[in-house]
Amino acid sequence: MSINYNDALSPYDNKGAVGMVELSESEEELDRKVSVLASLLTESKCCFVIMGAGVSTAAGIADFRGPNGVWTMEKEGKNSASIDFLEAKPTLTHYALVALEKAGILKWMVSQNVDGLCGRSGFPMDRLAELHGNVFCEKCDRCGRMYYRPFAIPTVGGKLTGRYCDGTPQGRRCRGRLIDFTLDWEGELPEPQYTTSCKFACDADLVLCLGTSLQIVPVGNYPLSVKRNGGKIVTVNLQKTKHEKKADLAIHAKVDQVMAKLMAAMGLSIDHLKEVPIDEPILESAHPMFKFEEKKKNKRMKKEEIKEEETEEKKVKKEEENQETSEEKIEEEKSEVIIREEEKIEELKEEEQEGSEEREEESEKAEEEKTEKNGEIEEEKRIEMNGESLESEENKSGRIKEEIDEVIAIVDEIPETAVHSTSVSQSFESL
Ligand SMILES: [Zn+2]
Repeated sequence: MSINYNDALSPYDNKGAVGMVELSESEEELDRKVSVLASLLTESKCCFVIMGAGVSTAAGIADFRGPNGVWTMEKEGKNSASIDFLEAKPTLTHYALVALEKAGILKWMVSQNVDGLCGRSGFPMDRLAELHGNVFCEKCDRCGRMYYRPFAIPTVGGKLTGRYCDGTPQGRRCRGRLIDFTLDWEGELPEPQYTTSCKFACDADLVLCLGTSLQIVPVGNYPLSVKRNGGKIVTVNLQKTKHEKKADLAIHAKVDQVMAKLMAAMGLSIDHLKEVPIDEPILESAHPMFKFEEKKKNKRMKKEEIKEEETEEKKVKKEEENQETSEEKIEEEKSEVIIREEEKIEELKEEEQEGSEEREEESEKAEEEKTEKNGEIEEEKRIEMNGESLESEENKSGRIKEEIDEVIAIVDEIPETAVHSTSVSQSFESL
């Protein structure tokens, strides 16, 4: 591939629902729905188309969210099969849209594809808003002139290509530098195509959404503006779209199958339509620019209001993201707190362990000291007691001696009898 579009884009996280189940109408139901669509188109006064990647899958270019889409496969760790944009050929649906434009039914087309197939099918560039860009196009950064090339520009995001402007579309000299015309995520949508698309979103009475799940804003929200202003929504997509319930008619089938039946139902032919050179697209429609009459009630619904809605949506999205982040944060904080608590408990346990060891040591020490002290006291006591007892025995024996002496003196004084001497000698012996 001369440019790997998906790889060239910045990383993008808001991929929405991918790989959703594909639905399929029964043949009868499909015929009935196509017939309703033919009537809606015939009756419409201002119809525009929103084209998504599902239109180019038949050309061999991978979509994003289909079963084999870039993001679906990426989620499964695989690469999607996609052919080089240069080798791709416009599909039946591309040609059917050219036929609808030529018939004066289709007034405007918003494409989210960058493969350049709308231009190659011969769809007039002045009725086409390639809001996500075109890999075969360069734009002058000064006068805005578009240059279509027979090769893919290898960059995205409005980077300088190294080439210069030949002059303004009015023939004046211009020293502008050329930049690639493929939008990266968050890039500014190209003007004046964006403003015109917003006007159609406000004033159209019918929007036909082909091969898009309507998940990428602002384009994905255009049908809501149409509906709000009394218009109708028709979706043709294998998977359910984001605004499935708001659609007046939702057809689940391949876009080529639906458009083939539609051409037949409306009596339109695409057989005569041929591919035009990639660097020589049809610049102007055969019809004068459709002047859609702004209904009075719609006058207030301008681009600013759509922008306001987008801002609101972005705000809500940001809030949701913030909420998610704050929930994650809370969870993180919770687990941090738990970890901290556990660490604290662990520390406390360790401290307690150390403390108890210390206390044990202390108490052992105290016990030892106590024992030692007690020993000392005992020793002292013992010594004291021994001293006391010695002293008391000395005293006692002294006292007794004194008493004996007294007794002897008394005995000496009294007449000599044998009675008391026995008892005195007995008392003396008992000592
Ligand atoms: Zn220029």
